[in-house]
Amino acid sequence: MKRVVIAGAGQGGFQVAASLRQDGFDGEVLLFGDEPGLPYQRPPLSKEYIKTGNAERLLFRNADFFDKNAIRYLDGRSLTTIDRADRTVELDDGQTHGFDHLVLALGARNRRLPIPGMDFDGVMQLRTLADAERIRAAIAPGLSLVVIGGGFIGLEIAATAAAAGARVTVLEATDRLMSRVVSPAISAHFLAMHQACGVDVRLGTMARGIRGNDRGRAAAVEIDEGASIEADIVLVSAGIVPNVEIAEAAGIYVQDGIRVNDLMETSDPHISAIGDCASFPFGRDGILIRLESVQNAIDQAKCVVQRLLGHPEPYDKVPWFWSDQAAFKLQIAGLTAGADHQVARASDDGAKLTVHCFRQDTLIGVETVNAPADHMMARKLLALPQAPTLGAVEAKDFDLKAVFA
Ligand code: FAD
Repeated sequence: MKRVVIAGAGQGGFQVAASLRQDGFDGEVLLFGDEPGLPYQRPPLSKEYIKTGNAERLLFRNADFFDKNAIRYLDGRSLTTIDRADRTVELDDGQTHGFDHLVLALGARNRRLPIPGMDFDGVMQLRTLADAERIRAAIAPGLSLVVIGGGFIGLEIAATAAAAGARVTVLEATDRLMSRVVSPAISAHFLAMHQACGVDVRLGTMARGIRGNDRGRAAAVEIDEGASIEADIVLVSAGIVPNVEIAEAAGIYVQDGIRVNDLMETSDPHISAIGDCASFPFGRDGILIRLESVQNAIDQAKCVVQRLLGHPEPYDKVPWFWSDQAAFKLQIAGLTAGADHQVARASDDGAKLTVHCFRQDTLIGVETVNAPADHMMARKLLALPQAPTLGAVEAKDFDLKAVFA
């Protein structure tokens, strides 16, 4: 293998380049992405960055790292075409680059809502540093922010904006917050917290459209039965769509994401896909999923690198995730969607919460709030061949620590 080309310079793409060098690859590494500047991490965009505006701290590494490690990095360049027969990629600057192996780490883009008014000034979405800069500049004491979508990113911004003195309303179409990914106990905990911070949370409420003023700026979000909520800024945070189109146009198999096997190989063995853009078989049943998390992008990148270096190992990592909202750190080990039974335990002062989630008596995930030690133990627990049963966890004297004693 002489030349690895990595398309997409976010979390996964950067990790492939860094791990190739760290693990001794001595061929050429070309990493390119369509955003300007050096590769950076996204999680702080909806957390510290909105408060501090410190973009330097977002960078994975400074420019020296790429020089020292002989990683050729091209920013502001989009992949336009993959020629599988010639094993070349074409970029929007007209350049063509050959590859022995191509890694697609193209991430995802924000889902646009099919409602009127999405193009008014003041309607924002958050995915990139440029988006975060706009949101940060717009948030100010007293202005009214309407967040459409009560998921992780919308709620992180809601908490930060409320702390900065904005009047914040969150519209969530389902009957609880973060409903796609957390248990009802966690949803209830965060609902109470956001309300205590002064956020007006409207559950079961659909945004029907965004109304503008005569200067083309967003002025209000229309909800049910003719009602509307005044808005200076609207943040639409309604999920993401994986970037699969270029792979699909090249005849690579796509199924929700760019479909890969448990070694992260696409339907073309010379091309891998990782991170937010890839769908892969998960768990014992091999159900097809796509994960949108730092852990997944990093571990899948490492999985590809090991295979390219001649040590293939099926991808089999315990998923984990976090979200910081006001003073509350939510951490999730495993995947808890689809649980049919939950065991929730709060500390006496209510500051900490741990929820064990089961499906058919099998522990599938553990959600914690402000309990990082429990989270770390849960990650180990879920990697065990035999995790505790529902009966064991329900027992009054159940102690996570005792499992490892
Ligand atoms: P990305 O990091 O998105 O990188 C993909 C890159 O490819 C992007 O730079 C994109 O512009 C580029 N690209 C796309 N198309 C092309 C093209 N045609 N040519 C060239 N380049 C292209 N995860 C957590 O685990 N915890 C968190 O707390 C958390 N918070 C988040 C907060 C925010 C605001 C966001 C947006 C995401 C957050 N995530 C979080 C998710 C996490 O950042 C992603 O799952 C992770 O970045 C995925 O890595 P990736 O490499 O697959 O995609």
